[in-house]
Amino acid sequence: VGEGGEITYKKIQSSQIMGSIQLGIQHAIGGLASKPERDLLMQDFMTVETTNFPHEGSNHTPAHHYSEFKFKTYAPIAFRYFRDLFGIQPDDFLMSMCSAPLRELSNPGASGSIFYLTNDDEFIIKTVQHKEGEFLQKLLPGYYLNLDQNPRTLLPKFFGLYCYQCNSKNVRLVAMNNILPSSVKLHQKYDLKGSTYKRKANKSERQKSSPTYKDLDFMDHHPEGIFLEADTYTALTKTMQRDCRVLESFKIMDYSLLVGIHNLDEAQREKTESRKRTDSGQSDDETEGEPKRSGLNRTRSINRQRLVAHSTAMESIQAESEPIDEEEDVPPGGIPARNARGERLLLFLGIIDILQSYRLRKKLEHTWKSMIHDGDTVSVHRPSFYAQRFLDFMAKTVFKKIPSLDLPEIKGNH
Ligand code: ATP
Ligand code: CA
Ligand code: CA
Repeated sequence: VGEGGEITYKKIQSSQIMGSIQLGIQHAIGGLASKPERDLLMQDFMTVETTNFPHEGSNHTPAHHYSEFKFKTYAPIAFRYFRDLFGIQPDDFLMSMCSAPLRELSNPGASGSIFYLTNDDEFIIKTVQHKEGEFLQKLLPGYYLNLDQNPRTLLPKFFGLYCYQCNSKNVRLVAMNNILPSSVKLHQKYDLKGSTYKRKANKSERQKSSPTYKDLDFMDHHPEGIFLEADTYTALTKTMQRDCRVLESFKIMDYSLLVGIHNLDEAQREKTESRKRTDSGQSDDETEGEPKRSGLNRTRSINRQRLVAHSTAMESIQAESEPIDEEEDVPPGGIPARNARGERLLLFLGIIDILQSYRLRKKLEHTWKSMIHDGDTVSVHRPSFYAQRFLDFMAKTVFKKIPSLDLPEIKGNH
């Protein structure tokens, strides 16, 4: 946060970054229309296109009231191919990215990255470090070799890599799929790594209206774990195994499983409560602390269609279940589950923050941390160890297998 309460990144006002990158992306997508579809070539991964955006505008850029900037688009043809792989039409991508202001998310991460969410809830734009951007560029061909073979995955899907340059500062950005719906209240959110070392949300995070908790908090809140039907459990753990194998092959670590929990029973109670309050004349603020939805967002949640194909939690793990009709406002594709109290849950999840390679990591940090702490629980470790511990934690501590979610002692259909 900069002077006067304005949020800044590298001393550039966030609102300026948002507006400028929308202009940049609009220009980049528009420019692609003139380039015919064709097979990907290796050099498509290396291309970078740079455009100047002067105040007064130019032959191909509009006039604007932000500071003058340069906008770089990395591997435009390759990313067009990836968007196509996930069924994203150029016009839809343009609409999502540019037709309405972006919303800034408060980031619980330590890295200082800024996150922007598109108004329709489909995409997240994250600022990344120079090293991470470079790593993504190198990773692209191999990563998408995997996603092409298997688009049903919990791995992050990258749809663009950009660099906004202003006053000789570089802001690198990746566009990716959004995992957590903002149209529904998430009663709990976790960022899980399978590590116990310092894995507790700090005080300022806990005070937020919708905190992101960590591993130790999870074990505290859900000592018995979260229950999944046998088939769902198997589908989820298999997907995570396959995904971790890919990450390990690229020596990636430090990634997390992001889990958002919507508690259907609690939502029902909240509804009844707020109705009571309305009846007694008090105001009714349905989703407290959550940003209000726009018309577009609402339309899509009613249509039950995601713009990005294969990207709901259920699709990602190749599972299917009956849609829940009673809750007309719940976005599609959450994974049905129960907590130990038997309450009906919907889980929204995915793997995030994968642009950290072991090879790029500072050696110092590892030695120092392992010196002061038992090597096994330090969250910075060899990629294969990291993957194994991650999988173990998810399959044994976080998720538990039960024969059916509708056991006699648990009343009601899911
Ligand atoms: P650090 O490196 O300190 O862990 P970071 O700045 O790299 O943090 P991430 O770990 O990528 O940030 O993400 C931080 C938080 O942002 C997550 O815990 C989650 O709440 C939110 N987030 C990140 N990626 C997504 C996504 N694809 N969809 C929804 N929310 C996300
Ligand atoms: Ca992280
Ligand atoms: Ca990170």
